[in-house]
Amino acid sequence: MPRFILGYDVGGTKVSAVLGDENGRIRSVVRKPTVRHLGPKKLRDDLINMGWEVMEHSGVKQPDSIGVIFAGLVDQKRGVVISSPNILGLRNFNITKMLEDEFGTKAYLENDATAATIAEKLFGSAKRMDNFVYMTISTGIGGGAFVNGQLYRGAHGMAGEFGHMVIMSNGPICGCGRRGCLEAVAGGKGIARRASENITAIHESHLFSKLKPSEIDAKKVFEFKRKGDMFSQLIVEETIYYLAVGIVNVINIMDPEAVIIGGGIADAGNDLFVPLRMAIREEFKSMYRPVKILRGLKNGHDLAPISIPIFNETETSIRNSQVAKSI
Ligand SMILES: [Zn+2]
Repeated sequence: MPRFILGYDVGGTKVSAVLGDENGRIRSVVRKPTVRHLGPKKLRDDLINMGWEVMEHSGVKQPDSIGVIFAGLVDQKRGVVISSPNILGLRNFNITKMLEDEFGTKAYLENDATAATIAEKLFGSAKRMDNFVYMTISTGIGGGAFVNGQLYRGAHGMAGEFGHMVIMSNGPICGCGRRGCLEAVAGGKGIARRASENITAIHESHLFSKLKPSEIDAKKVFEFKRKGDMFSQLIVEETIYYLAVGIVNVINIMDPEAVIIGGGIADAGNDLFVPLRMAIREEFKSMYRPVKILRGLKNGHDLAPISIPIFNETETSIRNSQVAKSI
């Protein structure tokens, strides 16, 4: 019998509960919109109900372990969510204890971008890589890295904030307070803002001129580009250039074997990856090296919470065997 893992992903727009096994097979998924204004009590009720629901779908009575991933600041060691912009009034929420009490099994917590990095190492194209970088590009930009075969967390557990690397020192203001961060320029919101700002071009584009300003988003920009809209083509080309600058910065610092890209923007597939690889090659200038630019796992967001207990339990058993050896 494989070990069954109950996974949760608490994001900005939706909350997912997933039942998967240690081999990375997803058995059942339930999703609900994130309800920000009802606070932690509503989140707690949703998580419990959704957990029982996915287990019932798969005929599982009790999970062997639980993995929770959260967009926001988490204390991974204590299993406590410090704060989150997505749930009103949520502070120092001991989410792992709450789930352990309900389901009677050990729960692990991790930041969502770190978890997605771990999923690439366990189930994705980074399986046999010791040095790689993972970047998620959606509304925001985040990520993580493995260095010499180990997850690199940094001194404060905040490594991998690639989105807050400044690429335009007088650029638009970012959510973090700085100007011209990669996220503010080439993240989903940044793409939408660059498109909305150019009023003249919007009027001239017959596809954009039909939209209300609030309907302009990164998805539309990529969609209209595919339909041959010249203005969208320009925005996409600009986006790819900024991403290439940011990615080459990271490559110059980390020297990874691969940069794996996930998040909503990866859904653009070859429309993104073909020109992005060319732009990166160009941006290397004289510092060229053969770094693979790969697409992340297609179901990475569901595998990420499943990966957390597997990763923690393997890490613990490696540590214990090292302790045993040293004794
Ligand atoms: Zn920033």
